[in-house]
Amino acid sequence: MLRKFLYIAITKRLCMIMRIFISQLFFFLITLTTVTSQAQSEELPNRLFKVHDTYRETTLTQRRFKQKDILPLIAKRQGNPLYKIETVGESFEGRTLQMIKVGNGKKKVLLWTQMHGDEPTATMASFDIFNFLEGKNDGFDDFRKELLENTTLYFVPMLNPDGAERYQRRTMQGVDMNRDAASRQTPEAVVLKGLVDKLKPDYGFNLHDQSPRYSAGRSAKVATISFLATSYDYELNINPVRERSMQLIVGMNKILQKYIPGQVARYSDDHEPRGFGDNVQKWGTTLVLIESGGYVGDPEKQYIRKLNFMAILSALDKIADNSLTKEKRDDYYKIPENGRWVYDLVVRNATVKQSGKSFLADLGINRNEVSYSNATKFFYYSKIEDFGDLHPQFGSQEIDATGLTIEKGKVYPTTYKNVSEVSKLNALSLLKQGYTYVRLTPDSNTRALGLYFTTTPLHVLRSGQAAPSGTPGLGNTATFILKKGAVVKYAVINGFVYDLDNFATGEGNGIIE
Ligand SMILES: [Zn+2]
Repeated sequence: MLRKFLYIAITKRLCMIMRIFISQLFFFLITLTTVTSQAQSEELPNRLFKVHDTYRETTLTQRRFKQKDILPLIAKRQGNPLYKIETVGESFEGRTLQMIKVGNGKKKVLLWTQMHGDEPTATMASFDIFNFLEGKNDGFDDFRKELLENTTLYFVPMLNPDGAERYQRRTMQGVDMNRDAASRQTPEAVVLKGLVDKLKPDYGFNLHDQSPRYSAGRSAKVATISFLATSYDYELNINPVRERSMQLIVGMNKILQKYIPGQVARYSDDHEPRGFGDNVQKWGTTLVLIESGGYVGDPEKQYIRKLNFMAILSALDKIADNSLTKEKRDDYYKIPENGRWVYDLVVRNATVKQSGKSFLADLGINRNEVSYSNATKFFYYSKIEDFGDLHPQFGSQEIDATGLTIEKGKVYPTTYKNVSEVSKLNALSLLKQGYTYVRLTPDSNTRALGLYFTTTPLHVLRSGQAAPSGTPGLGNTATFILKKGAVVKYAVINGFVYDLDNFATGEGNGIIE
């Protein structure tokens, strides 16, 4: 009896141990599978980020390229069995619009760039993607195979080549084609609508650049990438088409946070009945809008181009293997909205003396790009764009001017024949004496020479150009000095700051006005 009892007890105990062991084993296996699959899905973006330099299209090095710069990049792919290249129409000014098809999968993805002529970041990234798709034996062969077997990608790079020629947002007709989806008075809009009708893509990527001066939410950080899952109605409803767009964005946001923490935002999802994004979503294509914004120290957006490359390919991967459905759509709303303006420079708490009185003010200064040489180049022309209490706003660069008085600089009494004479001056010595302006003689014709700026950190006045009067304030060119008592501490020339105690020569952004 006792023996039997003991036998049952031991058996029961063994059973229990076995059960615990088996359940633990299951738990372990499940954990292992989850961890492994997570590691794989996390791994691809990192690997893409690293490999980008290998596949960067080296002929595109800055933003102001034209259609003539990308035509050879398309032409050299003619006859490559990877692609099918098709002329799909022409711009108002007669430039051909071409579509590059790659892949043979069921899921159709239409990607277009630069419908705004001065928004070229994703065009650069598209050519990096083509180079990448042509690669071999670099550890990405399985990814390429999966991608091109499951998706068919239709790229239309630089949809607005006339605008790109002038480096302007609008088309040759002066129309914003992202407000022309309904009326379609531009041939470029007709082409895009035609492609959406003909291809009936499952997914669309509407690739733009936004002002580099939006903050992400209320933070001081600029929004480097902003997303939008466009709304197809005023009620901001979410059908499965739009839900997938939110899921894709949630996935891309997670990836980007590692590289640009806190610098991803989303556009307000107000419905725009004339916008392509909104209408394409309405017509049944899951539409993702990507806006490349700003990144401090990257004026030519070469780092943002790399982020585009990584984010777009990672999103295509999520489409190819359908893993986008794992993302929670509500996380979309956790991404902060595009916030306030971040100025290029904020001067805080400067003492302003005016009409015998004094008060404190902050200055918000922007370094605006001005095109020249057929919009192939630009110089900066900087203005004081806000004045007063700017405490809720931020600057990409800030100076604490507490205890410093702002004054306009003086005009140096000697005049100079040309800019090269000006460049020989000891700028530091002049600035320390409070001279910010140097005047040219009447026979000096810098305009004819195409000279609008100088690397000498001085504000050069052409003959006849009046020096500003009064205290520097709203709307003025951002040239002034900041003094502590009688000593000039900082000179600001054309919106660029020179610390006179730590003066570095030869890197100025002076202006010829
Ligand atoms: Zn745009």
